Amino acid sequence: MNTFSIAIHGGAGTLVKGMMTSELEAQYKLALKSALDAGYLVLENGGTSIDAVEKAVISLENSYLFNAGKGAVFTAEETHEMDASIMDGKTLNAGAVSLITGIKNPVSLSRDVMEKSEHVFLAGQGAMQFAKINDYTIEDETYFYDELRHNQWLEIKDTDSFQLDHAKKKDSKFGTVGAVACDKDGNVAAATSTGGMTNKKFGRVGDSPMIGAGNYANNKTCAISCTGSGEFFIKGVVAYDVACLIEHKEMSLAAAANEVINKRIIEIGGDGGLIAIDAKGNISMPFNTEGMYRACKSSNGEEEISIYK
Ligand code: ASP
Repeated sequence: MNTFSIAIHGGAGTLVKGMMTSELEAQYKLALKSALDAGYLVLENGGTSIDAVEKAVISLENSYLFNAGKGAVFTAEETHEMDASIMDGKTLNAGAVSLITGIKNPVSLSRDVMEKSEHVFLAGQGAMQFAKINDYTIEDETYFYDELRHNQWLEIKDTDSFQLDHAKKKDSKFGTVGAVACDKDGNVAAATSTGGMTNKKFGRVGDSPMIGAGNYANNKTCAISCTGSGEFFIKGVVAYDVACLIEHKEMSLAAAANEVINKRIIEIGGDGGLIAIDAKGNISMPFNTEGMYRACKSSNGEEEISIYK
């Protein structure tokens, strides 16, 4: 039997250690652990990697701690616009949504795009129409309201600036979320979900829903979910770049992931991290920021839940 494993992240960024209370740190670790266990259980029971990543991401989206689903940041219009994507490494089937509002679990909508539509990527009003046809409940704004996120937005709302949730500032609830998994059959999958950037406008979309940039999966190489400065991750086609280094330069998973995060993305001005897994169940979780909420678990006994380096 193949080694099966899962890795998850809750965002990479600047997190000044002293500003994190031990209580909050415990809350984050608990939320990471529940998401990890939810995904791992699927794999342990012989389920598929695509089911495992969806389950893990749903768990993270349901936590107010992360910038996805319930904890999504505020846009310039004081709303929440979310992006998500999912990809199956066995078939290369993929689904993505962006600029959606009121959807409790954007990752599930991206999966429905993959499985119930002829398309890969649906955005804005069209994506919402698709959600309604598929009987999604539209939550009202109060479901997504969080005082800390609202205060982050109030601080910059009358300016032209927009902010990564993990930008250097006093509070630091950073947190796009993602999961990658390899199941007992050696199939890999990846899922990513985010609220994007605080005070974003003009229909800004980051890397998270873009197949190849923030999310990618191919059994031949690896499955990847990214977090960081989205504009740079798009320009660097980061997730696909890691896969290409493995495929064309025969690099190991860890070497390829490190090359992209600790060299290539820095060279073009970006920062962040990623989680990666291959069809043998190997895991790599590099980041070039101060911290990245992350966790992984493998059938070979490996388990980690960490925030800092
Ligand atoms: N990459 C995400 C975006 O640019 C943000 C993040 O990872 O926190 O939308």
